[in-house]
Amino acid sequence: MTAATLALDIRELSAGYHESVVVRGLNLSVGRGEVVALLGPNGAGKTTTLCAVSGVVKTRGGVVSVGGQDISSVSPTKRARLGIAHVPEDRGLFFGLTVAEHLRLGRRGEHLDADLAYKYFPALAPLANRRAGVLSGGEQQMLALGRALSRKPSLLLLDELSLGLAPVIVEWLLPVIRQFADATGCGVLLVEQHVQLALGIADRAYLMAHGEASASHDAKQLRGDSDLIKASYLGGEGWEPHETDNGPEETTVQKNREGKST
Ligand code: ATP
Repeated sequence: MTAATLALDIRELSAGYHESVVVRGLNLSVGRGEVVALLGPNGAGKTTTLCAVSGVVKTRGGVVSVGGQDISSVSPTKRARLGIAHVPEDRGLFFGLTVAEHLRLGRRGEHLDADLAYKYFPALAPLANRRAGVLSGGEQQMLALGRALSRKPSLLLLDELSLGLAPVIVEWLLPVIRQFADATGCGVLLVEQHVQLALGIADRAYLMAHGEASASHDAKQLRGDSDLIKASYLGGEGWEPHETDNGPEETTVQKNREGKST
């Protein structure tokens, strides 16, 4: 797969805060229409990675390309215009604005397609005149997602959709994201603590710990390998960061446990 056909291509990314570097030499890619999960324990650097892609956190080194274009020195506003939609952990809603206003008011010069949000989340329609602040957690997350989809993104960054939500709601939300990726060709990078649910809709996954990531894994294979998932979360020997990533076409599964490799 060439750089131009990738929704996102990250090469040797370093990012952090003040003196501390929390993402180191990260290589990661997301193809068009692909859903990729970024998994790992608290503090691994997953949120920082998403923020470095949307431009909220400045990169310290490496290259971030979207649709083949190097955006490493592009402002967050321009990145949004280039098709990057980021749904942060806190959902980024304005509690005093209604659902309809969220789906009407884009950033400067940005046109939102509210119909797209209502198409994927029909339950938002009867809530159109309700303020975001009085919506339930699940309704707020639907609005945050619907607003992101209404931007018609080419790359969707989703950070912990499940935060504060019952698993049954996450089980319902994630397939909608899968449908959107399939229908529009939007690439999705998904950070999610409900590992099995995330792997249920993802094509590939990266395991991240201490700011470094493994080579990508086929999501179905990884779903059945609870030892490897545990090792990445608990710092066991089965998991090791990998220097290169072969991307969607040449997915590799790296295992060092008992000398096995596949
Ligand atoms: P979680 O699943 O808990 O959200 P994460 O994998 O998303 O974890 P990050 O939120 O990216 O990890 O945090 C990585 C490291 O960076 C952590 O050690 C965290 O304390 C630190 N960090 C995050 N945000 C800031 C900040 N604004 N200033 C300083 N350090 C930060």
